[in-house]
Amino acid sequence: MRRILVAGNWKMHGSRAMVQELLEGLLAGTERENGVDMAVFPPYPYLAQAQSLLENSNITWGAQNLNPAPKGAHTGEVSPSMLLDFGCRYVLVGHSERRTIYGESDENVADRFDAALEAGLEPILCVGETLEEREDNLTEAVVERQLDAVLNQSGVAAFSRAVVAYEPVWAIGTGKTASPEQAQAVHAFIRDKFASRDDIIAGQIRILYGGSVNGSNAADLFAREDIDGGLVGGASLKVEDFLSIRNAVV
Ligand code: PEP
Repeated sequence: MRRILVAGNWKMHGSRAMVQELLEGLLAGTERENGVDMAVFPPYPYLAQAQSLLENSNITWGAQNLNPAPKGAHTGEVSPSMLLDFGCRYVLVGHSERRTIYGESDENVADRFDAALEAGLEPILCVGETLEEREDNLTEAVVERQLDAVLNQSGVAAFSRAVVAYEPVWAIGTGKTASPEQAQAVHAFIRDKFASRDDIIAGQIRILYGGSVNGSNAADLFAREDIDGGLVGGASLKVEDFLSIRNAVV
């Protein structure tokens, strides 16, 4: 049985005061266990604050990226062991904003995934097509290429300690959500792809949907067979909005 995971990607938002208020609100709202896992992804400078507030709670946390190198001359970068030092369980890899704005290639994403796993972090691998690619009927080809880059480097067994997030680029931050049918179709394609290599991993792996998830559309999305929760951007920045997504799961 796969547990639903609701993960909040804060992107480059936050301040000490906002992190305090948001996390205190989330802690109060998640005291009672409802079978849903919740995780937050603050910017690097707030990981220490997240760790001190969330330790021993029902909420886990992670980082939005990492550098695959263990240490060295990488000015401005953060290594896997540094994330572990601040109690991170997860790390996002290959978010579309990293791929498009910062030029992370499929191979580069595969290196980050591998380094995260090696260090003992659980990578959340983000994949998804642009609007142009969807209109050209390339959704499956693009998602397959992005998955293959990681599968070919790390192997299918690596996914026993990883999560996949399907995030159509055209739905991120746009208010346009993929319909539950559109999302389910791609999630089933992803699960089938794992099944062609390993049935057990395919049955266990959590595949999150990301792209304008909110309290009104979450229940319908998460009710689909192959949708195991959400990677949430905008709606994870307000206590009520984020909790309404968590509480949408029945
Ligand atoms: C994201 O940042 O991964 C995301 C899905 O953002 P939003 O929910 O704002 O579309």
